[in-house]
Formats: sequence, structure tokens, C-alpha cells
Amino acid sequence: DGETVYCIGCGAQIQTTEKNRPGYTPKSALDKGLETGELYCQRCFRLRHYNEIVPVGLTDDDFLRLLTQIRDANALIVYVVDIFDFNGSIIPGLHRFVGDNPVMLVGNKEDLLPSSLRRSKLRDWLRQRANEQGIRPIDVSLLSAKTNQSVDQFLEKVDKHRGNRDVYIVGVTNVGKSTLINQIIRRSTGAKDVITTSRFPGTTLDKIEIPLGDDHVLVDTPGIIHPSQMAHYLSGKELKIVTPQKQIKPKVYQLNAQQTVFLAGVARFDYVSGPKHGFTVYVENTLPLHRTKLENADNFYDKHVGDLLTPPESPDNDLPPLVRHEFKITDKSDLVFEGLGWITVPAGTVVAGYAPEGVGVVVRRAMI
Ligand code: GDP
Repeated sequence: DGETVYCIGCGAQIQTTEKNRPGYTPKSALDKGLETGELYCQRCFRLRHYNEIVPVGLTDDDFLRLLTQIRDANALIVYVVDIFDFNGSIIPGLHRFVGDNPVMLVGNKEDLLPSSLRRSKLRDWLRQRANEQGIRPIDVSLLSAKTNQSVDQFLEKVDKHRGNRDVYIVGVTNVGKSTLINQIIRRSTGAKDVITTSRFPGTTLDKIEIPLGDDHVLVDTPGIIHPSQMAHYLSGKELKIVTPQKQIKPKVYQLNAQQTVFLAGVARFDYVSGPKHGFTVYVENTLPLHRTKLENADNFYDKHVGDLLTPPESPDNDLPPLVRHEFKITDKSDLVFEGLGWITVPAGTVVAGYAPEGVGVVVRRAMI
């Protein structure tokens, strides 16, 4: 009744008239908020529930300024990667901006990996990959933000390592950073539950600050867009089909040279030369796989893309053309289709991977 009220998230004065001004909340939400005593402006409400932080590109000035600010802060940095799409998770040049700040590496989506994979081996593997990027993590955690597996243990480690510092969470889009932050918000209660939003000075980027109980905060930084991720080239529906939902069941193909395996219509694997051998495919369990002779493969694709080979949903969808990348394999390796999965290939072979133009196809040391 004319009484002035404030958003418990950001502190802005609540108003119901100007949508684009701070403190806006729809009238219905205001009444409900006054009733429950939990009054957030629309912006904070959305941030709380959906974490609608606008992502930035890897080369944006705003992004570089954000990293500079992290370097100049006294902070513990939590670097979240998707263990299923490690290459697509890399923030190039991050090591230059870490400064003297300690880094905890988080491998998210552990629930997708076969349980037979030794976790200590995977942590070592992640540490080696981080070292290759010039990052020396003080800790490597494996967890699943989605199933909540090992999130508690991770938070205990954060508390132990942060000392007298703020905690900055960084990660590219799609690694599950929002899911993890929402888990963290969900488990904190009472006054600690209040989040605030502010801006990285000198940028248009928002940050969310979650109080940690002392004078320090956990800062959720904007997601960073990694252009080589498959996610940028598929429709939402198609992406759902190719994204692993449950623990991956690897499939082994005994292949002779000059055979091809299609991964739906979004990727293709050619066994170019080498002896008959087993090749293990790690992709979403329901993704259709088709084997053909290499010499027939182009025709097979043209004939069946959009039907047997789905996604894409239709042959004339906007998927960029598949581009071929050939590799000579000298040590047991993974041929990675970024965001889709990988095929483990034996030493002494020549193979080719195809993916839509722009999507990364790379070879790395075998994870498994
Ligand atoms: P962000 O862009 O990094 O904030 O990522 P999101 O939190 O929006 O997650 C991206 C996608 O990954 C969504 O489809 C999530 O459901 C999924 N996801 C997030 N965490 C996990 C996880 O621990 N396991 C699995 N399997 N999927 C996850």
C-alpha cells in the first residue's frame, strides 16, 4: 500500500511499471512475494531459477576484461569442464589470466562415463590435459551436477582451499556450470540463500554472487562460448538426441581397412588403413550407427541422410557439410568429435573423422 519494498536478491527498489528498469516485478509476483516474504525482482528471480547469464565469445573484449579482473583478484578459481567433451570445454589462454591464484579443476558429468573406468586414472588424465594448457590445478574433482554425485565432497574441498578468498567459477557454455551453481544455491539455506547480481566493472557482463557465510562470495561468471562445440550447429531437438543422457555403453566394431561407420548423419569415421581391429565408440547410447564399405559411403550418406542417418532431421536442414580430417595414429588414441563423443583407435592405423564444418575433430591420448 505505497510501502517501499526491496528485492532481497539485488537490493533494488521493487516497481511494477517499467519492465527494463531495475527492480521490475510483475504485479502478481509482487503480491505473492509480499505474502511469502521472499520478494525478488524479476531479474533476480530468473537468475535464481534459470541462471540466465548472457554468455560471451572467446574473443570478446568483455571476456578478456573479465579474465583480467580474475587475474587481479585474490581468488580461488574453479574451472568446470565437461569430461565428455573435454576439448570443447577448454578456455584457451586461461593460464595467462590465472596469475598466482590457485585453480581447482572440476570434471563434470561423471554420471556419463562407464563405471569400469578407474576414477583415479581419469583424474590423472584430466590433470595431464590441464598441464598441457599450462594450468597446474591444486585439485581435480569428478562429480555430477545433475545427479548430485560428489557435489558435497567438492564443496568441502572448496571450503578447505579458499582460505580468505572469493571463489570464481569459470567454464564454457554447456559444461553444466549453471546446474552446479543451482545445486550449490539449493543446498545453502536461510540468509546464505540470498544471491546478488552485479557487473564486472568496465564490461556489460553480469555476475552472480552467492554469499559463503563469511565476508566472501562465490562468483558465477558468464558462460563462455566455444565455437567448435557441436551445440552451435544443431537444433535444440537434434542436440537432445545426440547428447548423452545416461551412462555410456561403449560399442565395439571389428573393422577392416576401407570400412566406414556413420554416427547418425552428423559424423563419419573411416578406417583408412591398418589390420583388422576393434574400435570402441563412445556416444549417446541411442544414436544410430551404420557401417558401410568406404567406397559406398558417400552414396550411402546422400541416400540416407535425414532418414536412416538422423539427426539431421531432414537432408535439407542447415547442418554445415561434413569435413574430413585424416590422422596417422602412432599411439592408442581417441578420435574426438567435439560434443558428440569419441572413438578409441589402435596404434599403427590411419583413420579419418568427419564432422560438420566448424566442429572440432581432434586426436588425443586415449582416456580409457
Ligand atoms: P552451462 O551452460 O555450463 O551453464 O550448462 P548447463 O548447466 O545449462 O548444462 C548444460 C547441459 O548439460 C544441460 O542439458 C544439462 O542438463 C546437462 N548437464 C549438466 N550437468 C550435468 C551432469 O552432471 N551430467 C549430465 N549427464 N548432464 C549434465
